[in-house]
Order: sequence, then C-alpha cells, then structure tokens
Amino acid sequence: MRIYNSQSRKKEEFVPIRPGEVSIYSCGPTVYDYFHIGNARPFIVFDVLRRYLEYKGYKVTFVQNFTDIDDKMIRRANEEGVTVKELGDRFIEEYYKDAKALGIRPATVHPRATEHIPQIIAMVQKLIDKGIAYESNGTVYYHTAAFPEYGKLSGQNLEDLEDGARVDVDDEKKSPADFALWKAAKPGEPSWESPWGLGRPGWHIECSVMSTEYLGDTLDIHSGGHDLIFPHHENEIAQSEGATGHPFVHYWMHNGFLNIDNEKMSKSRGNFFTVRDILSQFEAEDVRMFTLSAQYRSPLNFSRDSVEQAHASLVRLYTARDNLLFIKDNAKEKELSEADRAFMQKVDEGKRRFEEGMDDDLNTAEAVAALFDIVYAANTMVSGETAARAVTYALDALKQLSDILGLLARQPGGLPEDVQRLAADRVQARKDKNWKLSDELRASITSLGYTVEDTPGGQKITRAI
Ligand code: AMP
Ligand code: ZN
Repeated sequence: MRIYNSQSRKKEEFVPIRPGEVSIYSCGPTVYDYFHIGNARPFIVFDVLRRYLEYKGYKVTFVQNFTDIDDKMIRRANEEGVTVKELGDRFIEEYYKDAKALGIRPATVHPRATEHIPQIIAMVQKLIDKGIAYESNGTVYYHTAAFPEYGKLSGQNLEDLEDGARVDVDDEKKSPADFALWKAAKPGEPSWESPWGLGRPGWHIECSVMSTEYLGDTLDIHSGGHDLIFPHHENEIAQSEGATGHPFVHYWMHNGFLNIDNEKMSKSRGNFFTVRDILSQFEAEDVRMFTLSAQYRSPLNFSRDSVEQAHASLVRLYTARDNLLFIKDNAKEKELSEADRAFMQKVDEGKRRFEEGMDDDLNTAEAVAALFDIVYAANTMVSGETAARAVTYALDALKQLSDILGLLARQPGGLPEDVQRLAADRVQARKDKNWKLSDELRASITSLGYTVEDTPGGQKITRAI
C-alpha cells in the first residue's frame, strides 16, 4: 500500500515498524459541542483506513483522543453554567452517539487530556530538564530555537516563522515562535497542581503524551485534518522528538477540507451543519457514502444534491444486494456454467480494482466505483439460471468490500438506524402516555419516508414508497 506522507510530500510504500501490526493516532474532537460534518470527514476516513489495514491482515491499534480542556471548553462551560468536566462528559457521550450512527467504530483507546495530567507534567518537566523548555511566571514554553528541525512538517523555517509572528509578542517568551506547554492558572479556570504552580496543559502537549502512552515513542501513522499540520502537528513533533530523542511518526496523513460554497466548514465561520442536524434529514449511510465519494486529500464540497446523489447510489447498492439475496433463495445448487464463471470473473475484477484503489493512498472514490462495477455485473449478468455458488460469491464480495467502507450495514428489509431510534422513542412515549411526543415522533418518521401504523400487535413501520 502507498500512503501520501505530508512530511515528504510524496506517496511512500507503507512499511510498519513491527511486521503485522500498525499503530495509528488520530486527533479527535474538542468536546464543547456536537461535531459537524467537516469534523466527521477525518473520523470516517481514518476509520476506513483502520478497517482496510485490518482487511489486509494487520493488527491495528487505533488511538483517538478527546480534547476536553482548552479555551473553547472553558468559555462554553461558563456560558452554560456547568463545569468543564460536565461539559466534556456530555459531549463525549454525544460524540459516541453520532459516531455510532455514522458507522465509525470506537477507537481501541479514546484517551482524555484531563485524565493524563501527571504524564503531561512529566513530559513538560523532561523538556525543561533537557533545556528545550523554560518556565516564565508559572507558564512553561517550548523553546523552538532549541529544536533545529522545527518546521520540517509544514516546510517552513524558524526564521520565517519568527518574522511572520505577530508583534503582540508575550514578554514572557524568549522568541515569538515559542509556544505554551503548560499555562499558569487564571481565575475561574480549572487548574491542576504542578511544579510550576496551579495551571493547565496547552493543547499540543496532550497528543504527544497520549500517543506515547498508548503507542510508544514512534508511531506508524498520525492523522488529522489538514488544518492541524501547523502549528499542532509541527509542535507535536518538536515536543515528542525533543523529549524522547526518537523519530515520532513515520507517516503523516492529512485529510482535505469539507467545504461549503467553497469555504472550509467550521464553527468559527458559522457555516456548519452538525451531524445531529444532518441525521434528521438524511440517513447516516448517505453521509458516509458522500464523504467517501472523494479521495480523502481532495477538497469535498457539501451540498444537498451531493448527499442526495450518495443516497441514490446506496439505493442501487442495496437493491443489487437484495436482488442477489432473492435470487440466491431460489437458485439451484448446480455446476457452474460458462456464464457463471464469466460473472465471477467480473466480481474478481471489481475486487482487484477496489484493492488497487485503496492501495493507492486510500482512494475511496476508486473503491466505490469498483463496488459499482460489481453491482453492474450483478444487474446485467445474474438471472434465475445463475448457480447458487456464483450468487453467493458476489454477495460475499459485496459484503466484504462494503464492510471496509462501512456501507451496506443495514440488514435486508431492516429499517435505517435513525428510523429505528425514532421508533424506539415512540414506543417509550406511548408507554409514558405522552401522546404529543408520540405524534411528533410519528411526523419525524413520516418525514423520513416511512409510514407508522398502530396495530394490536404494536407499532408497524414500513417504507412509504
Ligand atoms: P476539532 O474538533 O476542531 O479539533 O476538529 C476535529 C477534526 O476535524 C480535526 O482533525 C480537524 O482537522 C478536522 N476538521 C475540522 N474542520 C474540518 C473540515 N471542514 N473538513 C475536514 N476536516 C475538518
Ligand atoms: Zn492532536
């Protein structure tokens, strides 16, 4: 498999540190709000990377953190009159709900920054002991000039960075490009005891600490959105390599932005849709299909039309699968005919195209196209005459490849997850005799294209079309 390494700016053959094993650290969400569909892009894409590496036989350890302490967390907690811990607990729970709906598997470990304060303090102390960091009025800064390779990921040199640095330079810093590892406590902010007095960690240090804690000094792959290259990942390299003396990461992978009207979707611009909003209008798999319709490094433009197109593609995929299932139930166990063999060969070709696409820097657009080669073959080459073995062969391939993308997850004839969720809530609402809520839930289910009937046997939900 070849992976585009943001540091070398080239596609490189992927060779893991330990044969048969892969370690991945992926920067996770700051848990002050629901996540938006731009944030969902790295979560979905790197979930697919993990699934594909597993398909290839690797044992993957996948770590994705929760940033649960930073300025945004503190501001939002104050606005809502809750503690930072309560805010974090709440949005971590909401993260899991949305991630599950989108078919994003839980990471092997989801570490939280606030649960690693002693390890953070230890790494900061180590950097001070090595003369790479210094304390000033209770804040500890990383001295970028002490790390000659600073700038190697983003391709900048320290002089340019210092010239370009803002002029409102903190007097506390030795140099404008220095950054905070530990921040002295301010009134009203959560803080922890440290050798430098009460304070809290800076943002970058948590990822250096938590990746080392769970994956060791050197990782195979570190990933995140393109916006994290500088300063976040540049600073992670400086911290980790400064502290351990070992290379930090072998392959840096960064996804392109999800844009809306050709602008990056982001909370600060206010041009975002949360996954929660979108799931009331589309099925979760539509969003996943839409996200995977482009290779992860390309920009991806969000529009209703493109999600509707993704929905239409999924309908074709499900229809092909359900047709194959129907044919299989009625197919005969017989010798393979010439036509059966030709069909199975098309399935193999689809599989090969899928793998070639994925091996070429996780080109999911190519992988999806390969899946539809198999769909096309199934639609044009399978009939009541096809041998059961050939039908099963195609069904297995469709399932195996779709599983890698996290698609085709619904059971035959089953209801989509969002409808199931609403249906379960409505059963509860009726138990509680909350007729108003029950009616609202019926309206939500109907708006998703399903009809609700209350029969003596209970609530019955069917597709309206
Ligand atoms: P945050 O919660 O802002 O720290 O972001 C979580 C992840 O989402 C990071 O890997 C970001 O780089 C990524 N991200 C944020 N906005 C976008 C976007 N519009 N498109 C793609 N990735 C994004
Ligand atoms: Zn990070």
